[in-house]
Amino acid sequence: MLDLPFEPPIQKIEHPLFLEKNIEVSIKRDDLIHPFVSGNKWRKLKYVFRFAQETNIKHLISFGGAYSNHLLALACAGAMCGFKTSAFVRGEEVKNHMLFLCKIWGMELHFVSREAYRNKRKLFDDKFSEDKTTMFIDEGGRGELAMKGCEEILDSMDQDFTHAICAVGTGTTLAGIAKRAAELNMNAEGICVLKGAELIDNDVKQLAPDLHNWNIHHNFHRGGYAKTDEELMEFIKTIASSTGILLDQVYTGKMMMAVFELAKQDYFKPKSKLLLVHTGGLLGLLSQ
Ligand SMILES: *Cc1c(COP(=O)(O)O)cnc(C)c1O
Repeated sequence: MLDLPFEPPIQKIEHPLFLEKNIEVSIKRDDLIHPFVSGNKWRKLKYVFRFAQETNIKHLISFGGAYSNHLLALACAGAMCGFKTSAFVRGEEVKNHMLFLCKIWGMELHFVSREAYRNKRKLFDDKFSEDKTTMFIDEGGRGELAMKGCEEILDSMDQDFTHAICAVGTGTTLAGIAKRAAELNMNAEGICVLKGAELIDNDVKQLAPDLHNWNIHHNFHRGGYAKTDEELMEFIKTIASSTGILLDQVYTGKMMMAVFELAKQDYFKPKSKLLLVHTGGLLGLLSQ
């Protein structure tokens, strides 16, 4: 159940800046794992699904905004693996391509006010707690089982790299990467895409206690979650047209831009070998 279809390839990114700073930059193409269950969402769901299967769960219930990559991944993966899926969607009822696809895969959508959305347990309990074959999956799929899947993003072949770098939403992916990175003697760097989210550091500490090889950069959110600007969109175009790699404006575009900025600031010592993680989420680009 949710075994990887193949090991995602690593692609080198050439750029005059990286030559000048004498660093090597490559990207692990987890975005290629699946068109809809892409990147870290596949990794995050793998052990959640195994747990559900072992405990005889039939119906997975989760939470997200109207453009949630997590809900899209859950809807598609749930259909692939024989689970029924439902979601509480934050805000007024809207139509868009993401939710349209969720419904195609049979996900049942319940739109709820922002206020009601704050108490996710209550939403779940009121509607589903009587049914013992249902399971609560937190927003973004966060948690320990999700982290376990993300530990598999790095493998022993990656130990030549000095740094692994990913975008940070809940921090679960970074926690998994940091755990494995510690065993491989690498640093893990997270680029936070939310504004004023310094508390995420505590969530990562809780998931990965006793680790000191990671760091979250909080100054590359470009105005806040899902906020975009012309410079970011131009950057995404430049990367796409010069490498073929598509990035999205919410997560991986901001992560890549931060890497360029950090390189300019000499954050990485000469001879550093960076492994960026393409966490997927490309359908979000169509929301632009
Ligand atoms: C969900 C998502 C993230 C954030 O992952 P967390 O584990 O919540 O930090 C990063 N990148 C993409 C493309 C995503 O869809």
